[in-house]
Amino acid sequence: MTSSSQVPSRARLVIIGSGFAGLAMAVRLKQQGEHDFVILERASDVGGTWRDNTYPGCACDVPSNLYSFSFAPNPHWSRAFSTQPEIQRYLRDTARRFGVLPHIVFNSGVTDATWSEDEQEWVVGSEAGTVRCRVLVSAAGPLSEPAYPNIPGIEKFKGTKFHSAHWDHDHDLAGERVAVIGTGASAVQFVPHVQKAARNLTVFQRTPPWILPRPDRPVPPAQQRVYAALPLLQKAVRTGVYWRQEAMLPGLVHRPGLLKGVEKLALAHIKWKVKDPVLREKLTPDYKIGCKRILIANDYYPALTQPNVEVVTDQVTRVTAHGVVTSDGVERPADTIIFGTGFHVTDIAIADRVRGRQGETLAEHWKGSPQAYLGTSVSGFPNLFLLVGPNTGPGHTSVVFYIESQVAYVLDALRRMDQHGLSSIDVRPDVQEAFNDEVQRRMEGTVWTSGGCGSWYLDENGRNTTLWPGFSFELRRRTKSVDLSLYETTAGNSR
Ligand code: NAP
Repeated sequence: MTSSSQVPSRARLVIIGSGFAGLAMAVRLKQQGEHDFVILERASDVGGTWRDNTYPGCACDVPSNLYSFSFAPNPHWSRAFSTQPEIQRYLRDTARRFGVLPHIVFNSGVTDATWSEDEQEWVVGSEAGTVRCRVLVSAAGPLSEPAYPNIPGIEKFKGTKFHSAHWDHDHDLAGERVAVIGTGASAVQFVPHVQKAARNLTVFQRTPPWILPRPDRPVPPAQQRVYAALPLLQKAVRTGVYWRQEAMLPGLVHRPGLLKGVEKLALAHIKWKVKDPVLREKLTPDYKIGCKRILIANDYYPALTQPNVEVVTDQVTRVTAHGVVTSDGVERPADTIIFGTGFHVTDIAIADRVRGRQGETLAEHWKGSPQAYLGTSVSGFPNLFLLVGPNTGPGHTSVVFYIESQVAYVLDALRRMDQHGLSSIDVRPDVQEAFNDEVQRRMEGTVWTSGGCGSWYLDENGRNTTLWPGFSFELRRRTKSVDLSLYETTAGNSR
């Protein structure tokens, strides 16, 4: 991909990351006539989590028509739910079509970013050089750092081991004894593929997920041609999908009882696909549906019923040179261990690298519980904007909708800084606190906090600092414009 090869010494804005969020920010800036920005990308391609996750079966569990930018509809999605290669192609095409590539410096992972009060700017260090900027936008995302489990002995394992987000495509699983640790959104997608390749597969399950059938289907070429000819029709379909997803929200947030029907459907799904009562029992969750992300898969349960698969529910206690040991003392030999153990969601790496007004990092400021006004502005960190920041993750719909809402907020902040001649804006601490109190109050009684499960939505203090506890259109409305009275402002050059 053709991109800028050098970090400029200065830019009005620096964007960290070129996944969905970084690209949305960049495209919208260009559409507003703002070209003075640079994207620092740690890898050598755009795409973020969709670039990194290449495991077999990787696909989206939100319908393609909604899991795409509003400003870049794609009439040619080949399936109702897109696969990773198709999404990655879409992101590359979007970066190219909208002229974002020249703004990207690849292989320039951010090492530190420090606010200079005197200069009213961020000094951003990267692997490719240092850049100063008035405004810093973190689009680093919550699914960018794979989380490895802290199991004693892992380092002693003599076979092959890798995380699903760093799939080792050079390694052939054919004829091997494979252990999979984790049964989340990624594992349910790659396990059927591993089952087919491996001699035998042991799936170590800590908590069974709730799984619904995946209503996927190919989109016939004729339908793609109709979408291309009638963009408004595709937009109408997208709107329909949007409202169908929103319909899940009342059950998740206000009345978990409303999800009873969905739970019945998921139970029927297990009964239909798993005939062995012992295996069925192992795979049946004992917490309320929706407490963890609801998964969709058609081939996961059938894969687990195959004769070369064992599902182990005893807890993994250690790894030896040649296998995995569980709490009952049994060691199961393995040639390869695959970790489907998720990501560092509430302890993102970038939080250790960004230092605000008081010299403390975001991680120090947050003390294990990330918070930001509208998930975007953090008090004491002037001119820093987070995309998919704390409590702005979707539990029920497309993250792209949330990203575009926050991008609109950043654009309005830039406009107001220009209009009022402001070199910095910093959200007031009382505003951030009141917002966070509101969010945490609304979180009480949701299925995410009362559904009887642990999940990656919860931080180390047990708070749900990941999801937005309301309809997505509420966040859209609240991020429409910036109220400067909620910010401490400093007069000066806004650029
Ligand atoms: P995940 O949903 O967080 O699942 C991690 C799995 O690893 C869970 O089963 C967890 O068990 C298990 N685990 C973690 N640490 C463990 C340990 N120390 N010992 C044993 N088991 C352990 O991670 P993921 O599957 O990679 O997915 C992460 C998120 O990525 C998803 O929820 C989703 O938002 C996103 N994703 C999206 C798509 C999509 O289609 N859009 C596809 C894939 C991933 P517990 O449940 O007991 O914690």
